[in-house]
Amino acid sequence: MSLVTSLDYPRSYAVLLAWFSEDANCLDYLDWLRWPEGFVCPNCTSVVGWRLTDFRWKCGGCDRKVSATSGTIFDKTRTPLTVWFAAAWLMVNSKTGISATQLRREMEIGSIQTAWAMLHRYRSVMVRPGRDRLTGDVEVDESFLGGPEPGVPGRGALGKVLFAGAVEVEEHGFGRVRLSIIPNASADSLAAFLDANVEPGSCIITDGWSAYPKATQDRYSHRGNSVTASGLQAHDVLPAVHRVFSLVKRWLMGTMQGSVSPEHLQAYFDEWVFRFNRRNSRSRGLLFHTLLRQAVTSKPVTYQSLCKAGRTRPSPEPANGLRPSPPSQEAGSPELPWRR
Ligand SMILES: [Zn+2]
Repeated sequence: MSLVTSLDYPRSYAVLLAWFSEDANCLDYLDWLRWPEGFVCPNCTSVVGWRLTDFRWKCGGCDRKVSATSGTIFDKTRTPLTVWFAAAWLMVNSKTGISATQLRREMEIGSIQTAWAMLHRYRSVMVRPGRDRLTGDVEVDESFLGGPEPGVPGRGALGKVLFAGAVEVEEHGFGRVRLSIIPNASADSLAAFLDANVEPGSCIITDGWSAYPKATQDRYSHRGNSVTASGLQAHDVLPAVHRVFSLVKRWLMGTMQGSVSPEHLQAYFDEWVFRFNRRNSRSRGLLFHTLLRQAVTSKPVTYQSLCKAGRTRPSPEPANGLRPSPPSQEAGSPELPWRR
């Protein structure tokens, strides 16, 4: 790893605490992630601004004072950014994430609601708008959450929720994963799930469910293996997607203690998929960097609006062209390692 990349994110919890001991440093890091080419006013898109001593900007176009947190999940928070940063680290650093109860205890956060809301705001930015769809050989299946599960005691707070999963199958294991709640297992619902998650032309591998030929027609090649005709168990016909189903169910019932309600289930899927798809990342610090960058570059999403909009997300912002940096951009201090 080059020295340059290692300064983009903290490589350990100890480095995190050293870099981000004050809110001013956190704010500068968010500023650097949000405006890598220099300040752009979110109100009037002016690129002229002056950095104030409190790390905010005074816009030269509309005269407003703007913070790197304006319009993001951190906007108007009363929780110190140092606590937000540590929470992001704890959320992505362990394979299983952290529950609101654990976070509250670790960070001595006043109320469980505050801890829960922080984790939930992070979940809301874990899907990057315009992310690539899965490709190649992709196993697809549906499953229920809630209801009696073998090996899982109790029903938890979930009723019975139907969801679909897709997993890239590679020569030596799994590639990327997608999980999404679906209203039913009709050809239309499954086709919509595939449209959102798998690149046309890919090979969809399923069981013998009658809706898949129609759901895949014209856009994908399809290989259906009937469980009954083959004499195999479902997990032998579709080993990858069934392995993922069992891992995510174990996580929901274990770390999250089965306390997930149906309206928030998609958010938990998004969190699990965020970590799972980066499980081979060379550094957990890179996940922290990705999460914070997405937190300041995507529009905050409320889960109410997600439910209403059927989970359509805003399309990605056009890439910023190279903009002339105002002289005030030179204000980076040598104590801020990411400002090279
Ligand atoms: Zn402005």
